[in-house]
Amino acid sequence: MLQLLAATTNKNKIREFMDMIPDLKEKVCILSPDQIPGFPKLSESGNSFEENSAEKACAASRYSDMAAFADDSGLEVRALNGEPGIHSARYAGEQADDQARIAKLLENLKGREDRAARFVCVISLAYRGNLVAQFRGEVNGRIIDTPRGANGFGYDPVFVPEGYDRTFAELPSEVKDSISHRAKAFSQAADFIRAELSSMDDFEFE
Ligand code: IMP
Repeated sequence: MLQLLAATTNKNKIREFMDMIPDLKEKVCILSPDQIPGFPKLSESGNSFEENSAEKACAASRYSDMAAFADDSGLEVRALNGEPGIHSARYAGEQADDQARIAKLLENLKGREDRAARFVCVISLAYRGNLVAQFRGEVNGRIIDTPRGANGFGYDPVFVPEGYDRTFAELPSEVKDSISHRAKAFSQAADFIRAELSSMDDFEFE
């Protein structure tokens, strides 16, 4: 049985990943940090989604001595030179909520015609403190002027994915989960794990 530590405290992300690998339920056991005594708070000191997710996955695998994965994600807005990017979670300060972050984003975009944006998610897989693989998922879209919808989280109420006229917060969660940046990165990671499991001998996870 492959034990894989999900280096996130977000249970939704763990559930989303498990939903991607129903065929591997007998072969993969996903653990969360709260199952590892004394698990440290993971830092994100990098300058890219790649660096941050790798830092978290490597630290988690080193500490737990098992294979681990971590994700880092955010919103990149073209007219703001890619901001908020890796600063998406703290865009309006440490204590701010989603509403305040959206308000700051809309304020910074006031009067700007270019509304192009994309969500990015990078998943890193690490073993014994070393990066094994990385997967990037992106979804293009645009930022609207007024928040709409109550589903999801973060910047969902102002993000309309390409090919749709509703925001991520208006679309049913099954739709978002099938086209999102995270779903795309997760699905590549799942394919990788599937392939590695079938040649487990030359890639000792356990
Ligand atoms: P983290 O990777 O979980 O730290 O997420 C970074 C931040 O990016 C979140 O706090 C959100 O503000 C934003 N974000 C990431 N993914 C999404 C999404 O699917 N919808 C809306 N906001 C998101």
